[in-house]
Amino acid sequence: MKKIAIIGRPNVGKSSLFNRLVKKRDAITSDIAGTTRDVKRRDVLIMNKQALLLDTGGLDQGCELFDKIKEKSLEAAKKADIILYMVDGKSIPEEDDKKLFYELQTLGKDVALVVNKIDNDKLKDNLWDFYEFGTDAIFGISVAHNRSIVPLLEWLYDKIPDSDIIKDEEDEDDVNIVDEDESEFEFDEHNEEDEDDGFFYTDEEEEEDFADDSIFAQNDKIKEFDENDINHIKISIIGRTNVGKSSLLNALLGEERSVVSSVAGTTIDPIDESVDYKGKQLTFVDTAGLRRRGKIVGIEKFALMRTKEMLENSNMALVVLDASEPFLDLDEKIAGLVDSNRLACIIVLNKWDIASRDDYDKIIQEVRDRFKFLAYAPIITLSAKSHKRVDKLHDMILEINENYSQRIKTSELNEVLEKAMRKHHLPSMHGQIIKIYYATQYETRPPKIAIVMNKPRGLHFTYRRYLTNKLREAFSFSGTPVLFKAKKRG
Ligand code: GDP
Repeated sequence: MKKIAIIGRPNVGKSSLFNRLVKKRDAITSDIAGTTRDVKRRDVLIMNKQALLLDTGGLDQGCELFDKIKEKSLEAAKKADIILYMVDGKSIPEEDDKKLFYELQTLGKDVALVVNKIDNDKLKDNLWDFYEFGTDAIFGISVAHNRSIVPLLEWLYDKIPDSDIIKDEEDEDDVNIVDEDESEFEFDEHNEEDEDDGFFYTDEEEEEDFADDSIFAQNDKIKEFDENDINHIKISIIGRTNVGKSSLLNALLGEERSVVSSVAGTTIDPIDESVDYKGKQLTFVDTAGLRRRGKIVGIEKFALMRTKEMLENSNMALVVLDASEPFLDLDEKIAGLVDSNRLACIIVLNKWDIASRDDYDKIIQEVRDRFKFLAYAPIITLSAKSHKRVDKLHDMILEINENYSQRIKTSELNEVLEKAMRKHHLPSMHGQIIKIYYATQYETRPPKIAIVMNKPRGLHFTYRRYLTNKLREAFSFSGTPVLFKAKKRG
């Protein structure tokens, strides 16, 4: 079995990563037996491949001097097949760090540079200092914030031979690397209160009476209307392998981009890549993964985990589908993640150049039928390969961003609401009169609208849907989810 060692200076996060990688069951039993200190290696599962993680915990003890760290690191590294050299992304690397890394590289083993503590987007800039190390196997992660771990796992997976795949599939769930909240992976189950129309209720019992908007500030924290924010759109290009995501990225960026690092002969794929378009900055999230494709691209769980990570850092998703082939369940699962993240969304039907002409309408209809949960997303047909209609997509991104970021005047909102209510009166509930007082938008990106009424739960779902449709008809909500919240006022 392959042996993995995590080495680096004290406090860079080695044991956090260690614990993250170790099988849950293994960690628990060892702790109960009180044998943690004696355990020299732990089993890990990287997806369904097993490996041994060497316990290099001793590295931190009494290691103040770099010479000592270096000596112990090399000692540990020699016992391993795969080396994760971990550094602190919040401090500037020293010459010593670089030298040790080069020395590790001469051992003829697989070495990755793991830059930890990249806890937010801003800190990604710190990675440039580490690109100087000149390796392609560089991973900016945050163990504490669970950011960008998937590319590292993919790299590890690649280094472990297929012969170490374990047969027992149940064990897969023992891996501690997946987000604790498994519900995030249940794509078909929609939360009842969010169903269909994005309408949800505040709990009547807990709800305080209120007469004006100030309550929203308390309960929902109005986001500041930030111009800069709106001019910067963070976009994920998602979809299964081979639908044309990388081709689309290249087409959108307008050129083949790669950043040449200052170390001779190495090219580095930046994590995020941006273009300016009509005064807006379009940033495509986590593009390194699209460009650096290993053998493992076909693994469904990785694809979903990676997508999930990307979406958490985005405002908008481009769901790429291959129009020349039948749609698959995986397409639906991936698209389902957009829905749960409440992102602006455009469905990109790629490879339109080779789609069957006779089936054009049928294909579009099938997208609408299969991706009902993305009913709000416009569909664009294009060819990433020939760049046909990619310029239209650029404009569509801006338009959808406007919709996603808009703030509708309360007066306009209520005009539409009143008109809708005049046309169809609110039905009563078990003889009780249901009243809607007014509606107001209390958040943007995506828009959230509160419908203030006497009995929030008394709003029949057919009427909810009716109102939602009327509001969608009246305002430009194409491409954006809109959340409606029924709020109580006594
Ligand atoms: P990814 O795995 O989603 O990143 O897909 P790629 O961008 O690597 O594309 C997969 C294959 O589809 C490549 O051979 C591309 O040349 C091809 N491809 C991508 N877009 C189009 C398109 O619009 N039309 C045609 N005919 N082929 C395309």
